[in-house]
Amino acid sequence: MTKKNKCSFCGRTEKEVGVMIYGADGFICDQCVEQAMHIVRENRVSSAPETLKDLPTPKQIKSYLDKYVVGQDAAKMTLSVAVYNHYKRLNYKGGEDDVELDKSNIIMVGSTGTGKTLLARTIAKMLLVPFAMVDATVLTEAGYVGEDVESLLVRLLQAADGDVEKAERGIVFIDEIDKIARKGDNPSITRDVSGEGVQQGLLKLLEGSVVNVPPQGGRKHPEQKFIQVNTRNILFICGGAFDGIEKRIAQRLNTHVVGFDASKNVSKIDKSNFLQYIAPMDLKSFGLIPEIIGRLPVLTHLQPLDRTALRSILTEPKNSIIKQYVKMFEIDGVKLTFEEGVLDYVVDKAIEFQLGARGLRSLIEVVMTKPMFEVPSTNTKKYVVKLDFARQQVENANMAVLKESSEDQ
Ligand code: ADP
Repeated sequence: MTKKNKCSFCGRTEKEVGVMIYGADGFICDQCVEQAMHIVRENRVSSAPETLKDLPTPKQIKSYLDKYVVGQDAAKMTLSVAVYNHYKRLNYKGGEDDVELDKSNIIMVGSTGTGKTLLARTIAKMLLVPFAMVDATVLTEAGYVGEDVESLLVRLLQAADGDVEKAERGIVFIDEIDKIARKGDNPSITRDVSGEGVQQGLLKLLEGSVVNVPPQGGRKHPEQKFIQVNTRNILFICGGAFDGIEKRIAQRLNTHVVGFDASKNVSKIDKSNFLQYIAPMDLKSFGLIPEIIGRLPVLTHLQPLDRTALRSILTEPKNSIIKQYVKMFEIDGVKLTFEEGVLDYVVDKAIEFQLGARGLRSLIEVVMTKPMFEVPSTNTKKYVVKLDFARQQVENANMAVLKESSEDQ
């Protein structure tokens, strides 16, 4: 070893350190690598919007969402405003008048596969904050088989690499919130393990409180050390299909528009889409407890996806299914194109088998499996997916399996 072999950062010699890494013009020791990593991590944490100046405006948030999510303008707008307000609130230090800004947790109602998760995920990606997704169906009241409500904070902590402060500014998406609705309108006399009890547990989190989170997840053990997480600034976005809620909305609209002006009002109601009239009282009649509804002040809905929307989903989003396949072929030096009619055919099949947006990927996968298997071992530079070929592949496929794989996504 020559005298020169010193860490270019701290000056320690090779003998004084564990490992010395050699670069083109210098050296770095293991200790400096660790320190540097620490600094990089810290900077990453602060890449979440810290000041109002860095915060994208609601319009900017929406146009970012537009790149990834087709349609759903009402939900996008509500979500953009709610997220903007949430971060505004985080940055608000309190003025002289000490007006307290309330939290704006969100609930999105819309059939499965209409883009609820995608919206939440895209928002989280844009804001560079930790994002955790949980299915409300796995949550049970403490002490019962299933996951405690706190488990959703464990996932958030994991997404934040264990950084509590970072997790405390994150976003939690609770899917299938409708599945923990109270069964029946009467408060239960017998215990309702997966319903009201879980709602009560969730309430604590939504309200904002300090929660003891078992670090490894799973069940709480008395001897286990807890991590304390304050949920005050965590944004909760809930989503649910609320199957059959349209009927309740219709009933409410009909009962409310009686009297003098009734006929005029009724005729204004768009009967093809009752969901757009959703109000908190519909969630209550579905079985969510009023306290939970009160903690989810931003209510928005997603439209069912029609043929045009499904067709756009295939090609328009920034990382649309078709763009992904084209890219995969491009990596092998092959230009992939689709004969006219193939994509419309796929959309028709997704509608016919009621597979929704999730089915689009499964259907394309069915069509593309053979070419993906064969093309890499040829010298082809161009591959055109023919309509007849696509038809043949879909007809040969087992629709039951296709349906299952779409549901799993
Ligand atoms: P939900 O949470 O409402 O059940 P998801 O957001 O998980 O539905 O949607 C399932 C898949 O369908 C997504 O991964 C996405 O590929 C596609 N998808 C659904 N709705 C849209 C949409 N509006 N725009 C683009 N893609 C969509």
